[in-house]
Amino acid sequence: MGKESDPDIIKFFGLYDDKNLQKFIEEKGQQMAAVSHRKNLKYEFKIVDSPVVNAFAVPGGYVYFTRGIMAHFNNEAEFAGVLGHEIGHITARHSAKQYSNAMAAQIGLTAGAILAPEFAQYADLAQTGVGLLFLKFGRDAESQSDKLGVEYSTKINYDAQEMAGFFKTLDRLQGQSGGEVPDFLSTHPNPADREADVAKLADDWKRKVKSKDLKVNRNSYLKMIDGIVYGEDPKQGFIEQNVFYHPVLKFQFDTPKGWAVQNTPEQVQMVAQDNKAMMLLTLAPAGSLEAAAEAILKNYQLTLVESKKGNVNGQSMIAMIADQISEQQSIRTLIYVIQNGKNNYAMIGVTLPSLFDSYANTFKGSMESFKTLTDQEKINKQPERIRIKTVQQNGTLAQALKNYGTSDKRMEEASILNGIKLEDKVDKGMLIKVIDD
Ligand SMILES: [Zn+2]
Repeated sequence: MGKESDPDIIKFFGLYDDKNLQKFIEEKGQQMAAVSHRKNLKYEFKIVDSPVVNAFAVPGGYVYFTRGIMAHFNNEAEFAGVLGHEIGHITARHSAKQYSNAMAAQIGLTAGAILAPEFAQYADLAQTGVGLLFLKFGRDAESQSDKLGVEYSTKINYDAQEMAGFFKTLDRLQGQSGGEVPDFLSTHPNPADREADVAKLADDWKRKVKSKDLKVNRNSYLKMIDGIVYGEDPKQGFIEQNVFYHPVLKFQFDTPKGWAVQNTPEQVQMVAQDNKAMMLLTLAPAGSLEAAAEAILKNYQLTLVESKKGNVNGQSMIAMIADQISEQQSIRTLIYVIQNGKNNYAMIGVTLPSLFDSYANTFKGSMESFKTLTDQEKINKQPERIRIKTVQQNGTLAQALKNYGTSDKRMEEASILNGIKLEDKVDKGMLIKVIDD
């Protein structure tokens, strides 16, 4: 299962581009796998390029952490606890249920799936590996994984008390997001309960291994994540005032007002508020526009109704109306294949034949706004990063953050990132995380 879905997961998120961090997770992962209950399995450990706070395991030995969760750990021991938990799902052979479509829709990550099923094929990844993000284990499985997480992390000499502490961070994140965020938290039992359970287990294991120097490794961890990208990364594309910008591929287009937009490295999906139409932008095969148009028709099993050649914003294009005929429910598409530099792009609007006329202008509005991005400010937009700073004088976390220019409205967020309260004392020389915006 893991082997099949790994390419989809990596395609969907991209690997986080930091060799040191990837090396760290791989080393700790293999070290822990070697003391686990299934040491002969071949494991892979990866950090994916997502701002969401999450870690997940896929049966078969595949474990993923997001850069979002890496940014939220404050020491190696917290990381090791969660790593042990995820390996635990694999070693205990937990069978997972995928989240229902309703839950996926709530999370908003699988735009295609919330539409009528006949649209689902257009949302390429909705039905494939990404569903694995929403694997849901039962409460008993989660408790067992917590137990194994404590055991495994203690066995590679980390203080599992820190794992208990990380549940506080999860709890605070959950409180802040109003429960909207799709992460580790929502797929797991109540963090507060788990914190108490894990703290007790950690004590038991500490006695069992009789180690006097279980590691926490706070400073080394913080130094390792210094500069980690935090939040959305504009280089993957971003939206400002209903315009989607892609600073790397250098294009832009208007998104319809009020539509939900989901951006992945593979495609940009847009879904109408009433869920009755969707549009997507994806790379089309390179080469001639005619060949690209042919390939798209074939790929989506579409029957051409009409097509014409033309020009949008100085770019050659082919516009097509094409139907997908099915006994259950036919659909009609408007497709623009646009040549931009060396790349061909396809924008595909999808809806039911009976609704096509009412959506055609909305589709066209976006398609005809597609053009080369030249605005340097958009091209050079930088992500926020976390910087590790040294506290200059004894005081509270709030004072230290303020000294480093943290604005009032981001204080709570920065406090969660640091894993302590704003009023908690910090001493001169201590390292803290500061959001560099
Ligand atoms: Zn779990």
